[in-house]
Order: sequence, then C-alpha cells, then structure tokens
Amino acid sequence: MLDVQKIRGDFPILTREVNGKPLVYLDNGASAQKPQVVIDAITNAYSQEYANVHRGLHYLSNLATEKYEGVRPIIAKFLGVRDEAQIVLNSGTTEGINMVAYGWAMPRFQPGDEILLSVMEHHANIVPWHFLRERQGAVLKWVDTDVNGALDAQKVIDAIGPRTKLIAITHLSNVLGTKVDVKAICTAARAKGVAVLVDGSQAAVHMPVDVEDIGCDFYAITGHKLYGPSGSGAIYVSHERMAEMRPFLGGGDMIREVTKDGVTYNDPPMKFEAGTPGIVQTIGLGVALEYMMGLGMENIAAYENSLRDYAAARLGGLNWLQVQGQAPDKAAIFSFTMDGAGHAHDISTILDKKGVAVRAGQHCTGPLMQHLGLNATCRASFGLYNTEAEVDVLIDALELCNDLFA
Ligand code: PLP
Repeated sequence: MLDVQKIRGDFPILTREVNGKPLVYLDNGASAQKPQVVIDAITNAYSQEYANVHRGLHYLSNLATEKYEGVRPIIAKFLGVRDEAQIVLNSGTTEGINMVAYGWAMPRFQPGDEILLSVMEHHANIVPWHFLRERQGAVLKWVDTDVNGALDAQKVIDAIGPRTKLIAITHLSNVLGTKVDVKAICTAARAKGVAVLVDGSQAAVHMPVDVEDIGCDFYAITGHKLYGPSGSGAIYVSHERMAEMRPFLGGGDMIREVTKDGVTYNDPPMKFEAGTPGIVQTIGLGVALEYMMGLGMENIAAYENSLRDYAAARLGGLNWLQVQGQAPDKAAIFSFTMDGAGHAHDISTILDKKGVAVRAGQHCTGPLMQHLGLNATCRASFGLYNTEAEVDVLIDALELCNDLFA
C-alpha cells in the first residue's frame, strides 16, 4: 500500500489554500499535479543542462540529447515495450492520434471504409476520424455502453465488418471511469486484419499497462495526466504499422538528407518526430514515470481502488445525486448530476468556494453526453495523492449544494 501522507509531501501545491480552504484537488482527469522531483528536473534542465537536441556537437547539446533520449527507454519500460524504437515522442495524445490519422489512416482509407469507435471517446479520439469522414468518405461506426456505462468488448468485436479498417478506442473513460477489455478487442481485430488504436490517456495513470500483452497497433499516452509536464507525451506504434506509416509533420530531425530534388527520411521513430521537440517537458515526463514506477503501478491501482470504493459508497448514500457510470471495476472517476441543480457549472462553482476542484461540462465527450441525454456533468477524478478525508470534504460540499438548490 502507498504511504499517502508521505506522497502528499512530494506535491508542493497540495499544501496551498484555495478560497481560504485547503485545496482538495479532484480534477486529475483533466491534468494531474506535479511532484517536486518533476519540478526540480524542469528547473535543473533549464538552469544547468539546456541546449537543443540531436544537433550540436557541443557539451550541453550532447548532455541535453542524452537526457532527452534517456526518456524513450523509460516510457518503453512503463508501457511494457521491449523495443524503445517503437516509442514516438510527442506533445501528448492529441498529437499522437492525429499522427496516426494523417500518417497511417489517410493514405489507406477508401470511401466507405469504416472506423469503429466507442461512444465514450474523447474528442481527441473522434475529431481526427471526422477528418477522414469529411475528406475521404470514411464511415464512423459507434458502439454504445450499457445502462451501467460498461462497454462489452464482444459488442465491439461483433461490430467489425468487412470494411472495418481501424478500431479507435479508449482503455479507460475519462467521464465514466469504465475500463475496456482492449486485449480481447485486439486479439479479435488482429485475426481479421483490423488495426487497433488504444487511447491510454487515462488508463496509464491508474493501472499497470502492458502494451505487448494487449497486442494493439497504437497506444497513446499524455504526460500532464501522468504527473508530468504539459506538452509531453508518446505513442507506441507496432513495427508493422511503423513500416506502413507516412510522416505526419515535416521538418528538421525527421530527415537524413534534404536536397532541392528530394528528401531521405530518418529511421523510425525519428522519422515521426519533426522540429525541436518539447525537450524539457519530455525530460520531466521521464522523471514523472520513474516516480510512478518507484511507487509501483500495482500499488497505485490498489490504493486508488480502495479510494474508489470509499467514494462510491459515500456518493451512493446521497439519494439526490446521480452518478453516471457504475461499471464493475471502474476507476476512481465519478461524473454526476444533482436533482434540482442548475448547470453542472453551478455545482462546481460552489465546490470551488469550499476549496474542492472538480471539472464541470462535457469533458470533451459530446457523443457520450448525447448518449446519456445530458448537457453536462460534474466530475470528481481522483489521483494517487487523494485521501478518504478529501472524499468527506467533497461530500460535505455536495450536501451544502443540495441544501442551496433544495
Ligand atoms: N483522451 C482522453 C481519454 C483524455 O482524457 C484526454 C484528455 O483529457 C485526451 C485524450 C487528450 O489528451 P491531450 O489533451 O493531453 O492531448
């Protein structure tokens, strides 16, 4: 089990007050706070070790390159990938998925070819596929969740048709906390020659991920949710898809030679990394992942599961509150609406007055909101530093909301 009081000491922001109350940060689904080791690594990189990477032949450039490139094997280890050359570094999931849409899907989609999506996808895993629909006549096929917000992997598998070229699916819903059996989906998809992109933005934060065991073609993660800096991230690409994929962004670093007449590309993964990257952000991400692995992903998952059970029991006791998503073994992410309350923003504003930071709105999941028949929800999303005492503060603040709205 985690020593959460000690862990809280690693995150300086958790000691601050908001609106005169101790901060209770429950917006981890949007972005997580950063431990001091990450903040120190960023400061050190800028104050002692900064230069551009891959270019210079001077000491600092070599040092920065060594630090930056040293992150690739850390991400590979974090994701259970043996070959670090399968890790493309980027600014986050949005860039990773767009790279797949432009670089892999666009050259191979014919009008009528299909992409399967779950109704729970984040806009980052929807809008790039709408580009293919608008520009190339791709067809988006949606698989719904059940009344509990669970997604039956078999329903996804059954939806695979002769024109299905890609399944683009989340590993863990940022709104409902639902986990998806992506391994079962990948096994069936592979047998039918269908590629699978897994959006691991949320899952990689809350549970151990073994991409080789899952057997997907693409697995995207984003650094700022992983206790690392914003503007950092990565996507795993299988050898087969890497060989098939065209570069998405063109520029420095991704080339070996450029002449007036043509270009020779660098070897993967560099072929897919154009321009000056987020050097310091990526270095910070490496430190964040080492911090998480140091705590142990199994330990993080076990702790967060106990926090989930406590929060689920306490929220379940509020009969005027509707929790959206009751899938078995869900993550500690709770979206809810309230009897009598106005917009979800009204709830979050009142919670904020009590120092409780939650998110309100559509959470970049328009189709899910449509499916649920809701305009918006409030979302409390927990991380490794949250406590049962903070759940209690949330409950007290919600009770206050209920009194005000009654
Ligand atoms: N996918 C999921 C499930 C998310 O929760 C998010 C972030 O909210 C994203 C994708 C997009 O990540 P980013 O904005 O870091 O690219």
